[in-house]
Amino acid sequence: MNAPLNSSVTQRLASADGTDLSLVLDGRVLAEDFPILAQAVRKRRLAYLDNGATTQKPQVVIDALSQFYTHSNANIHRGVHWLSQHSTDLYEQARTQVQRLLNAPDSQDIIYVRGTTEAINLVAQTWGQSIQAGDEILVTGMEHHSNIVPWQLLCARTGATLRHARITDTGELDIADFKAQLNSRTRLVGIAHVSNALGTINPVANLVRLAHEAGALALVDGAQAVAHGSVDVQALDCDFYAFSGHKIYGPTGIGALYVRASILKDLPPWQGGGDMIHTVSFEGSTWATGPQRFEAGTPHIAGAVGLGAAIQYVMDIGLDTIAAHESALLARATEAMQEIEGVRLIGTAAHKAGILSFLVDGIHPHDLGTILDTDGVAIRAGHHCAMPLMSHFGIPGTARASFALYNNLQDVDALVAGVRKAQKLFGV
Ligand code: PMP
Repeated sequence: MNAPLNSSVTQRLASADGTDLSLVLDGRVLAEDFPILAQAVRKRRLAYLDNGATTQKPQVVIDALSQFYTHSNANIHRGVHWLSQHSTDLYEQARTQVQRLLNAPDSQDIIYVRGTTEAINLVAQTWGQSIQAGDEILVTGMEHHSNIVPWQLLCARTGATLRHARITDTGELDIADFKAQLNSRTRLVGIAHVSNALGTINPVANLVRLAHEAGALALVDGAQAVAHGSVDVQALDCDFYAFSGHKIYGPTGIGALYVRASILKDLPPWQGGGDMIHTVSFEGSTWATGPQRFEAGTPHIAGAVGLGAAIQYVMDIGLDTIAAHESALLARATEAMQEIEGVRLIGTAAHKAGILSFLVDGIHPHDLGTILDTDGVAIRAGHHCAMPLMSHFGIPGTARASFALYNNLQDVDALVAGVRKAQKLFGV
C-alpha cells in the first residue's frame, strides 16, 4: 500500500498562518490527497460539504483500485494459481483492516456487504428468520430509511411490530421513552450511531446496555460514524454494527457488517450460491462457516482492497484527530450560521458530529442548494432519507452541510457567504 501523498503528520496539522489556527488538521494540505478537490466546479473552487452523502477518495484509494486491476486481479478462494491466492490474501487483509477499524475481536466477525443498507437487510433476513408474530423491533425516531424499511418488511412477513422511540425538539433521543418502549417482547433495537440528518451522536453504549437488560439484541447503524471518530464494537457491546465504505473515503459498493461471534455462528444464510457452501448435493447442501456463509458469489474484491486502503489512510491520520478537526469546523459553522437572521438550525443536540442541518426563512432548501452550487458550494437539500424525522419537526426537509477531514474554514466561509447571498437574491 502506498503512503499518503503528504505523509508527514506535522505537515497535516493546522498551519499557523492565520486562518486555520483553531483547527486540528490543515484541511487544505489534506485536500491535496484528493484529486477531485483540485477540480474547479462552475469555475469556482469546490467547497465540498456533502460528505454525509458520500466522501471523496484520496489518491491512495484510487491507486489501490488501479493497482489491484493492474497487478492482482483474479477470483478469490477457489483458485490454486498464484494470482488467485494473491487476490484472496488482499481481500482477507482488508477484512483485517475492518476488524482494526471497529476493534472487533476477530476478522471472522466481519461480513462484507454492499453497504449499510445491505447489512441491515442481511440482518433482517437472516437473524429475522427467528422472528414471530407478537415480537417487537424498536428503532429511534431519527433513523435513516435503511434502518426502518427492512424492519417494516420483516414485520409484514412475520406479524411482528415495529416501534419507535421519540426524539426531543433538540434532536436527541428521549431516553425515557426508549426505556418505556423496551419490554420482554422486544427482540432487537436499531440505533443510528450518528444521525445523518441532524448530526446527533447517540449514547450507544448506554442504549445497548438497556437493550440487553430487556433481553433484546442491538444493531448499530454506523454509516455516519466510522469516518468521524473512533469506534470500538467491544466497548459498545453491540451485536451488529453496519457501515458503508464510500462514506469513509473508500469505494462505492462495498461495506461491512460486524456480527458478534456467538450470534454469527448460528445465523442462517440469506443468499445461496458459490462460495457460501461447504458441500452441495441434490439431496441437500451444507454451509460454510464464518463470514463466507453470507458472501455468495464473486464479491467486490477490488472494492474490499480499496476499503482497506481507505481505512489505513484514516487510521494513519487518527480518528480522534479527525473528530477534533470536524468538531472545530462544526463549532465555527454553527456560530456563523446562528448570527444570520432568518436561519434556523435543525438538530442542536449537546453531542454532535460534523453535520449542520438548517432552514432559511423564505427560501426552499432546494433553491438554497442551487444558489450555493453556483458558487461551487456543494450541500444536500431534502429529507435525507429520514422522512419520519422530518415529519417530527413538521418540515419537508432541510439544507445540510456535512464536514470531512479535508474541509477548512474557507469552506465554512463559502457556505455562510452563499446563504447571505441567497437571502439577498430572495429579498428575505
Ligand atoms: N444509515 C445512515 C445513517 C446513512 O446516512 C446512510 C446513507 N445516507 C445509510 C444508512 C445508507 O447507506 P448506504 O446508502 O451506503 O447503504
